[in-house]
Amino acid sequence: MIRRLLVTAAALLLAGPASADSLIDNVDGMTLDAGGRVLRFTGLVMTPAGRVVRLLKQGEKRPDRPDWRADMKGRVMVPGFVDAHGHVMELGFRALELDLSDTKSLDEAKAKITAYVAANPERKWILGGGWNQEKWGLGRFPTAADLDAIVADRPVWLARADGHASWANSAAMVAAGVSAKSVSPVGGRIEKIGITPSGVFVDSAQELVGKAVPKPLPKDLAAAFLKAQAILLGFGITATADMGTTLDDWMTFRRAGDVGSLRIRIMSYGAGLDDTIRIGGVGPTPWLYGDKLKLNGVKIYTDGALGSRGAWLKASYADAPGEVGAAFLADDVIRNRMSRAAMDGYQVAVHAIGDKANAQVLDAIEELSVTYEGDRRWRVEHAQIVDPVDLPKFGKHSIIASMQPVHQTGDRKMTEARLGPDRLAGAYAWATMIKNGSVLAFGTDYPVESPDPFAGWAAGFTRSDADGQPYGGWQPQERISREAAWRAYTMDAAYAGFAENQFGRLAPGQLADFIIIDRDPLLASASDLRATKILETWVGGVQVFERK
Ligand SMILES: [Zn+2]
Repeated sequence: MIRRLLVTAAALLLAGPASADSLIDNVDGMTLDAGGRVLRFTGLVMTPAGRVVRLLKQGEKRPDRPDWRADMKGRVMVPGFVDAHGHVMELGFRALELDLSDTKSLDEAKAKITAYVAANPERKWILGGGWNQEKWGLGRFPTAADLDAIVADRPVWLARADGHASWANSAAMVAAGVSAKSVSPVGGRIEKIGITPSGVFVDSAQELVGKAVPKPLPKDLAAAFLKAQAILLGFGITATADMGTTLDDWMTFRRAGDVGSLRIRIMSYGAGLDDTIRIGGVGPTPWLYGDKLKLNGVKIYTDGALGSRGAWLKASYADAPGEVGAAFLADDVIRNRMSRAAMDGYQVAVHAIGDKANAQVLDAIEELSVTYEGDRRWRVEHAQIVDPVDLPKFGKHSIIASMQPVHQTGDRKMTEARLGPDRLAGAYAWATMIKNGSVLAFGTDYPVESPDPFAGWAAGFTRSDADGQPYGGWQPQERISREAAWRAYTMDAAYAGFAENQFGRLAPGQLADFIIIDRDPLLASASDLRATKILETWVGGVQVFERK
């Protein structure tokens, strides 16, 4: 049964505004209040426009004649999740293209690629991603030769799981004009065997091959968007930040809004200054399509990722002496860009993973805060490895630490290998961030990780993975409470996007964005919480997903 209030709008108008409100009743409801305390309720009254009027307690008198009442039969209702850091279009493309994220060895990946190539004879380029040589236990990057052995006649171009490296076969390198003469660009690296490109391109070097890939058509973009939206709503995510919205992405969201197929709420951060200014013009956009889409600001990269040793460190990688990763932007360049964005009122979100990159961004914020006063909500995306001496700076300027709990559990062993035992004190330091007065916003960085919020929530208060490893949690002093992790995934992820007055919890005046799930997430064990099933997802009082 699809319950849609809008179809009955005419009838409701005839009945008068007072009786137009509707009631979602008989729920085992729980939300956080403005102070982050758990509040339980059994009914939710909302307007036809999908805003919460009030929450009803057990035994509290129900409105006399609600024109429309849904009986949830005692099931659990919680606010929809807000993913503070994801990549909407990449999620859609990953799902529609070749997906290697579940492969556990190079051989398994090769078998999957071979089958995909055979099943898609019309595709001129074989595109996809999700590979991770760490998961494969390969001990090296894959090579073009690995791919040539199975696909020689067509270009193959596959992104690493973290998006910070891509893997080409020889046909792709030929099509892009890459040869032994090609040099690594600033902020990137061509992996080589001797003088020959090996087939893996790290960070900005990906563009050397990427520029030769045929651009997706508007219909491909629309299909990828709808796919991503369906996946996210199915995971109970009712709002998301899109970290790196290109002009094409933005137009795709706009077209979905124009034809009424935009259901999820998107807080966009433009992919660099140029696209941000082309989208926003003079500054952030207003909320469009009934609070569904807004350009908040700009996403800037200052380093790469740990997996590909692109994260910028203060001292050498423990497993690659002499390498410190890549600095994407000089100190004055990053200040210039952040300043240019802040001048027009754009919110600034900077990707920083390594301790040196984090220090660079923190110093830039410290300096810019003098000029750009007021409620700026500077964001650091990932903030994975921070030198303990720099951690207090997050609190000092109320910087938002936009972090991904599943990265901690998924990358634990790799992080130990890359950093050695002595540099882990400021790694994924969630509890310290909160203690210092930073706002912690949780997300998944999908499609790098699955957008499943329950895995992240469970990791947030255990620092253990799905198998319960390590027992007692990794660097357990940085665990946070179950309520604090929930808060980071809902109201503070909304706050991180200037949306705390619209969504993130259920309260009078907030949008009626909620999910119906099959268990009590505050009582379930961590492993039970991970197994939570989304039964229904509602955005603005409209049901947008129902488990079949
Ligand atoms: Zn990301």
